[in-house]
Amino acid sequence: MPIHEENYWLGTVTTPPVESARHLPESVDVAVVGGGFCGLSAARALAKRGVKVAVLEAETFGWGASCRNGGMVLTGMKLPVPTLIKRYGKEVVRQMYAASLESVDCVEQIVREEKIDCNFSRSGHLEVACKQTHFDGYQASAALVDREFHHRVRVIPSSELPSEIGSDIYFGGMVDESSAGLNPARYVAGLAHAAHRAGASLHGHTRVERIAASSHNGTRKFRLQTSQGAVVAREVILASGAYTTAASPALQKKIIPIGSYIIATEVLPADLARELSPRNRMIYDSKHFLYYYRLTPDNRMLFGGRAAFFPETANTVRQSAEILGRGMITVYPQLRDTKIEYVWGGTLDFTLDVMPHAGKMDDMYFAAGFAGHGVAAATWFGTKLAGMISGEINSTPFAEIPFRAAPFGLRSGHTWALPLAGLWYRILDFFT
Ligand SMILES: Cc1cc2nc3c(=O)[nH]c(=O)nc-3n(C[C@H](O)[C@H](O)[C@H](O)COP(=O)(O)OP(=O)(O)OC[C@H]3O[C@@H](n4cnc5c(N)ncnc54)[C@H](O)[C@@H]3O)c2cc1C
Repeated sequence: MPIHEENYWLGTVTTPPVESARHLPESVDVAVVGGGFCGLSAARALAKRGVKVAVLEAETFGWGASCRNGGMVLTGMKLPVPTLIKRYGKEVVRQMYAASLESVDCVEQIVREEKIDCNFSRSGHLEVACKQTHFDGYQASAALVDREFHHRVRVIPSSELPSEIGSDIYFGGMVDESSAGLNPARYVAGLAHAAHRAGASLHGHTRVERIAASSHNGTRKFRLQTSQGAVVAREVILASGAYTTAASPALQKKIIPIGSYIIATEVLPADLARELSPRNRMIYDSKHFLYYYRLTPDNRMLFGGRAAFFPETANTVRQSAEILGRGMITVYPQLRDTKIEYVWGGTLDFTLDVMPHAGKMDDMYFAAGFAGHGVAAATWFGTKLAGMISGEINSTPFAEIPFRAAPFGLRSGHTWALPLAGLWYRILDFFT
């Protein structure tokens, strides 16, 4: 069977797409730009507080990274804890780490409350060490997390690794039982329905082209010009992630859009699936140019990585099937004769400091920079932005750290230097 160049998750969604509102309202309290996890969770939380909110999505809800990811609902942040503490100090990182744990709870709570059928399961994550030095770092990291944040992550020596993974290429691992897995396309469809039920008006195929602020008698308003007409809003949330456009230029120049690609195999026999991942963990390795992988609920191996650094195109997606196929066999030689049935790609929103950021920019609320941790983080940040707009909270620890623009050549819309960044990370992987 030829490989489908399409997202496997999309074919598993059983609920009908949420109904897009027919007409744009003339004015709303809050306009949300982008209908992924972040925008939809913000809209749901605002609508539940009685706020008049509209979500403006250029494509279909979840079309961006939210439908295309690995479905790993992860604790922690992209950077290791010792690096974070060196950079921001213990107290700030304690708050950030607590937020990361809370974000997994936040997804679980929404799934429960809204009865979203998306295979949410606290199966835990396993990080595997590609070098002995990486494994030595796990020991220090786990001790630090235990001591400073009272959270337990378990270090797995290589002798015990067979109980976690059917691969013998790693030097050991680290398990966090609090992480979870879900089906992202079903989750985002459920979130859209939940926001709609709560009273948010949802507008698919509505691209925001321009946002202008104006002030009348001391009251500030935003006018959003969209492909379907104009809407006036008291507040704006930018939840456009890696797909941020020139409609919000200040945010666009801070985002580094990086491609990530995934393959999914044919359905595996149950005993082979159990051999590859006995505890059904969400797995990723310790490299910069990392692989991440897991079983799907129907026992396919879903294997992702940065096969090309550029955001996805038909060409990079096609090349990824081969590159990731080879990578999968180095991890799991057992899959040598297994067919790859799906390949797709998406774009991650990185920032220069590899951290998520949120707060206000040009008087508009925003959250971005979730990189590979956005299933939990984007959901959580969406609810926090709703809390900030409603005056329930002032800030988050991520609003207090500096948010620098990306260098020209890496920033959204001008990514010609991305292959150099890719090369740099390959060199780092070789030497560190
Ligand atoms: C291949 C891949 C694998 C990943 N794996 C994982 C994983 O396993 N675990 C994890 O935690 N994270 C993972 N991520 C990251 C995660 O998917 C994202 O961080 C998260 O989905 C971001 O959600 P969001 O709502 O901020 O943005 P998105 O879901 O990208 O939504 C932004 C939306 O904004 C819309 N938009 C942009 N501009 C405009 C405009 N001007 N007008 C109207 N609409 C606009 C876009 O169409 C888009 O739909 C992965 C990402 C990719 C690409």
